[in-house]
Amino acid sequence: MESVTAAHKQTAAAGTQAATGMTGGDPANVQPQQEIDGFHLVIEALKLNGIDTIFGVPGIPITDLTRKAQAAGLRVISFRHEQNAGYAASIAGFMTQKPGICLTVSAPGFLNGLTALANATTNCFPMILISGSSEREVVDLQQGDYEEMDQLAIARPLAKAAFRVLHAEDIGVGIARAIRAAVSGRPGGVYLDLPAKLFPQAMDAEAGRKSLIKVVDPAPRQIPAQDAVQRALELLKGARRPLIILGKGAAYAQADADIRALIEKTGIPYLPMSMAKGLLPDTHEQSASAARSYVLPEADVVMLIGARLNWLLSQGKGKTWGGKTSKDWGGQKFIQIDISPQEADSNVRIEAPLVGDIGSCVSALLAAIDATAGSKWPKPPSDWLSAIAERKTKNVAKMAETLAKNPSPMNFHSALNVVRDIVRANPDAILVNEGANALDFTRSIVDMYKPRKRLDVGTWGVMGIGMGFSVAAAVVSGQPVIAIEGDSAFGFSGMEVETICRYNLPVCVVILNNNGVYRGDEVNVTGGSDPAPLGFVKDARYEKMMEAFGGVGVHATTPDELRRAMEEAIRSRRPTLINAVIDEKAGTESGRITSLNPTAKKK
Ligand code: ADP
Repeated sequence: MESVTAAHKQTAAAGTQAATGMTGGDPANVQPQQEIDGFHLVIEALKLNGIDTIFGVPGIPITDLTRKAQAAGLRVISFRHEQNAGYAASIAGFMTQKPGICLTVSAPGFLNGLTALANATTNCFPMILISGSSEREVVDLQQGDYEEMDQLAIARPLAKAAFRVLHAEDIGVGIARAIRAAVSGRPGGVYLDLPAKLFPQAMDAEAGRKSLIKVVDPAPRQIPAQDAVQRALELLKGARRPLIILGKGAAYAQADADIRALIEKTGIPYLPMSMAKGLLPDTHEQSASAARSYVLPEADVVMLIGARLNWLLSQGKGKTWGGKTSKDWGGQKFIQIDISPQEADSNVRIEAPLVGDIGSCVSALLAAIDATAGSKWPKPPSDWLSAIAERKTKNVAKMAETLAKNPSPMNFHSALNVVRDIVRANPDAILVNEGANALDFTRSIVDMYKPRKRLDVGTWGVMGIGMGFSVAAAVVSGQPVIAIEGDSAFGFSGMEVETICRYNLPVCVVILNNNGVYRGDEVNVTGGSDPAPLGFVKDARYEKMMEAFGGVGVHATTPDELRRAMEEAIRSRRPTLINAVIDEKAGTESGRITSLNPTAKKK
C-alpha cells in the first residue's frame, strides 16, 4: 500500500506517543509504557498499510477507537447513519484502489452497514466493514447480551471474505487478510469482526508492533496468457462492425492512458457504461453513446473491458442485441477482459476471454498490435463508422433541440442543461447521481470529461448512495462535488447534510424536486385523506435542511436561478443545497427500467 502522507507522519508520531503512554513534558522523565492495547494495534495496523481515513458511526464498543484513531493522525469522518458511512467507504475504495474502512457498533449498527458492504461486493468496490461485537461466549450460548448477534455468520454470505479476531496478537494478521481480500483479484467487501473484549487486551508493545503486517503487493498484477491475447486480437482484426464497451472495472483499474491508446489506435467505436463515462471524454469522436441503440444490435464483435453482461447490458441477448425474443442471442462474438476467470460465459458464450488485470491486458494488447500490425492496424470499415456518425449527429441534434426549450415550470431537461454546462466548465468536479428519472436523464444529458468523476447507483441501482458518496468524494479528492438527486433518492441519506456542514465539504446538492417518487401528481384513488403512496409533501423546502446546519440553501425555480446557485456553490466551496423545483408531472414510472416493474403503467 502507499505510504502515509507527510502530514500523517507528523500526527502518526503523536499517535505513537499516545499508544506508549509518553505524555510529553520533560523527556528525561518520560517512562515508555511497555504495553500496547487492541485499540492501538488496530490503528497502527491500518496506518502501516497506508489507510489514512476511517468512515463510521461511533458508539459501544468502538467509541474510543474513533477518538484514539483521530488522536493518532487518521482522519475520522463520523456520519449520522452507518449505511451512509459504508457507502462512503466503498466509493473511497473505488476511487483510490485502497480498501475504504467503515467502522460500526455491534448488531444494529453492523446491520445498517451491511447493505453498503453487500453493495460493495456486488459492485466490485474494495471495502472493509469493521464492526465491534458482543461477547463471543454469551453470543454463542444465546444468553442475551447487549446487542447480541452472530455478526460473522450474517456477514459471510454478503461479503467477499469475513474474519474475526479474538486475540490482540492476531490483529495484524486479521487486518492484513482483510486488506488482501478486499483489493486482490476482483475487489469486494470484507467483514472484520472485532469483539469488544479485544480492544482493551494488552500485550508487550514490541511484540505487538512486530505482529503487525505491512502487506506487500496487495493487488498483484495478473498477466494474461499470450495465446489469449492473440485469440482476442484475431477476433478483433476480423471484425466488420467492432465495438468496445468500457465498464466501471476499467475506470477502477486506473489504466486510463493505455485504454485511450487502445481505442484510438484501433479506431473502434466505444460505449462507456455509466461509471466509465469520462474515461475518455464523452465528447470523443469515437464515443458511440449517442448511437447506443444502433451499435448494440449491429456490432459483430464486442470487446468488454471491465463490464459484465448483466441486466445493465440485457445479459448480452434479446432485442437490445438484435435477438428476436428476449432470450435470443444476437449473434455477436464477445471478447471479455476481466480479472475474474469465472465471469466469462455467465450469460452468453465468450469467444475470447482475456483474464488478467485490465492494465496488464490492455498493455499486452497494445504490445501485440505494435508487434504484428504496427501502424497498419486495419481501422474498422468506413461504412460502420459513418453509419454510427450519422445516428449520432441526428440524436445529438434532437437532444440539443429538447435542451434548448425553456418550459415553466422547469423539467428534467431544462434543469440538467444547466448541470451539463456547469460540469463542462468544471471537469474536475465529481458528479454523484441517484434517482430514477434524475439518474437516467443525468446519465444521458451530462457529459463527463475525466475518469472516475461520475459516481452513481451502480450494479444494483441502489437508492441512498447520494450523501455518503458525496462526503467520500469530497474527502478523498478535495474537489467540488455536485450531487444530482431525485427528491425521493435524497430522502434515503438526507440527514448527512449535517455531516457535509460539520466537515465543511465543498458539496453542492441539487434536488430535482417533483414532489414524489417518479413524479408528484398521483392521487389517492380512494378519495381518502392519506396521500398517494408515491407522493411527498408538496413544494417541500429541502434547502432549509442545509440552512439548519449552517450551509447555503437555495430555492431555484428557473434555469437561471439554478445556474447562478451552482456557479456560486462551486466558487465558494460552501456546502450548498439547491431545491430545483421541476414540473410534478415530469417523470416516468421506474425511469428507463419500466419493463422491470411488473405493474408499471406508462404515463
Ligand atoms: P459496469 O456496471 O460498469 O458494466 P461491472 O461492475 O458490471 O461494470 O463490471 C466490472 C468488472 O470489472 C467486474 O467483472 C470485475 O471483475 C472487473 N474488474 C474490476 N477491477 C478489475 C481490474 N483491475 N482488472 C480487470 N477486471 C477488473
